[in-house]
Amino acid sequence: MSEAPTAPATPAKLVTAPEISIVIPVYNESANLPLLFERLTAVVDKMGRKTEIVFTDDGSKDNSLALLKSFVEKRPDIIRVVEFDRNYGQHMAVMAGFDTARGDIIVTLDADLQNPPEEIPKLVAEMDAGHDVVGSYRRNRQDSVFRTLPSRIINMIRERITGIKMRDQGCMLRAYRRNIVRIIVDSGETSTFIPAMAQFYAERPSEVEVEHAARHAGVSNYNLYKLIRLNFDLMTGFSLVPLQLFTMVGMAVSGASLILVIYMVLRRLIIGPEVEGIFTLFAILFFLLGVVITGLGIVGEYVGRIYQQVRARARFRIRTIHEKN
Ligand code: UDP
Ligand code: MG
Repeated sequence: MSEAPTAPATPAKLVTAPEISIVIPVYNESANLPLLFERLTAVVDKMGRKTEIVFTDDGSKDNSLALLKSFVEKRPDIIRVVEFDRNYGQHMAVMAGFDTARGDIIVTLDADLQNPPEEIPKLVAEMDAGHDVVGSYRRNRQDSVFRTLPSRIINMIRERITGIKMRDQGCMLRAYRRNIVRIIVDSGETSTFIPAMAQFYAERPSEVEVEHAARHAGVSNYNLYKLIRLNFDLMTGFSLVPLQLFTMVGMAVSGASLILVIYMVLRRLIIGPEVEGIFTLFAILFFLLGVVITGLGIVGEYVGRIYQQVRARARFRIRTIHEKN
């Protein structure tokens, strides 16, 4: 009597670390998750490489978490879900995914289907070619001009101030080598911009062109305030130029005012006092104002440095990790 091969009750568990981890932050995306799951698993299965998908539920208020948990049940072989205790923002959600990911290549992706999952193999191929960070730029960005114009301007300022070159800072469809991801996680930074940090540490960066779709459902989680905050993180998190500029402006004002003071003194000695001496007073006032601004700038510089050191607080709290392998 020969033994009939029995199908395993659950799909094969991951015994060894996966080769590729796909990290996806999720905040109120229940309308997008089912389609994302379908398209993503199709891509992963077609790639035929050992892959895991790590979703982070960033304190969603809709039933995103329930959906994600059902995905773990459906595909326990590839899906893991990190559950936050509350909302910590997109970059912290990605950070937690990074910390949990076990793959050598780590791909990030948005949950709203603006980044087509079908582009993942293209990024992986570029990583296989030996790059340690593969960024992407959107072929024809599907966002309103109110979203594209500010990001164009900000891209320019950011490049000038931080010296970090990225064609499209807003596109989160990116791939990173494990060592780069570890540097980012171990940095312990709270307010950071992950693509910029990766670009900073990359030795062999590359960029590929990807498709970009309009949001499948729902509206962007970013409003103008959040966007400005994010870009402040980007500027002050990567450079002290804003503070230094402030100091330099103060110094320039002091210098110019000093010249005015000297001129007024000489004028008073040679020609005599001007009407009521009011402009001498102004000159002295401007000079002192310049000194005050310089002082503020210097203090600010120290505060900035101390701030950079002190930010060692817990960045996020993971409630549980739902996984079956
Ligand atoms: N996201 C998140 N936490 C947040 C805001 C957003 O995890 O507090 C996720 C969101 O679910 C999506 C990605 O980050 O997967 C990008 O967010 P969104 O589409 O709102 O931003 P946009 O595409 O407008 O930049
Ligand atoms: Mg989006």
